Amino acid sequence: MSKYWSKLAASLTPYVPGEQPKDRRYIKLNTNENPYPPSPKAIEAIRSAANDDLRLYPDPTCDDLRAAIARRHGLAKEQIFVGNGSDEILAFAFPAFFSPERPILFPDVTYTFYPVYAKFYGIPYETLPTDDEFGIDLNDYAKPSGGVVIPNPNAPTSRCLDLDSLIRILEANEDRVVIVDEAYIDFGGRSAVSLVGDYPNLLVVQTLSKSRSLAGLRVGMAFGHPDLIEGLNRVKDSFNSYTLDRLALAGALAAIEDEAYFEETTRKVVATRERTAKAIAELGFVSIESSANFLFATHPAFSAEMLFQRLKGKGILVRYFNKPRIDRYLRVSIGTDEEMDQFVRALADIVDEAG
Ligand code: PMP
Repeated sequence: MSKYWSKLAASLTPYVPGEQPKDRRYIKLNTNENPYPPSPKAIEAIRSAANDDLRLYPDPTCDDLRAAIARRHGLAKEQIFVGNGSDEILAFAFPAFFSPERPILFPDVTYTFYPVYAKFYGIPYETLPTDDEFGIDLNDYAKPSGGVVIPNPNAPTSRCLDLDSLIRILEANEDRVVIVDEAYIDFGGRSAVSLVGDYPNLLVVQTLSKSRSLAGLRVGMAFGHPDLIEGLNRVKDSFNSYTLDRLALAGALAAIEDEAYFEETTRKVVATRERTAKAIAELGFVSIESSANFLFATHPAFSAEMLFQRLKGKGILVRYFNKPRIDRYLRVSIGTDEEMDQFVRALADIVDEAG
């Protein structure tokens, strides 16, 4: 705590991101990055964007990228917003659509950035209970509130709701905004983007960090009624009107247009996930059925913290959350087939030694 900090800075409990250690080379299965490189077309586009034009400001409207995203989804450019990762879009959406007067709702086990944003903007929130397998009760989301945030698939649980369930939530909340955070949707679930034309209270947020292998570029996108997009622009233009830089605009555009590469890498990640889920089940692990690029798994006989530490000692980094409800689980990002084979072998050794 510093005497120079504002009251606000002193009151914050910031988000703690997953480790990005530099002490040795790990098999890195802890922050849900894609194990495959970005589309070669995206790399090439970034290379050619790194020219004299960098002296010029980028397009503050991100028009070309928004048009390409709109085309892919059969929407209009006015229904699309882009930002520096979906984290930034969420950071704009909270003050754009939620207010200090009424609590917003989200599940008790979910992405830990939501309460951080809420506190930062002075927005009260209520967390709604999930059951033993982290399922939600749709009725809970029908109560009066200031808005709803639904991660789908949820993180870190990997569980996904179907579109009928989302429609129930949207219809129960006609007067307030429902944000559906689809960071992991390309690995299994059905996207709510198809509902954007019918529900003016729906904002869908997606990212290029996971299924497009571009976590390092920081690009997220949102889909919604033009009124909601305008709301996001009002916040953005009051904060930093140049959200995406020229390299990010070029790389994201090429990545969005390379559908074949996206499909191939996504298919590989899903196939590896299914294979890994089976292999760890044979070792006695129970994992939640995953629609994401990670597994959320527990072993009845071993502490997750012990497994995390032992794996780390063997050069394999996974995510362990020292938090109530989920402290018996490991979240394991899906790597390449070779990486997951090494992970399963290391886990088998640890289970053998400890058993
Ligand atoms: N939402 C969820 C549920 C996430 O897990 C993440 C990744 N940590 C994000 C949003 C943010 O992703 P990004 O800012 O890289 O787009």
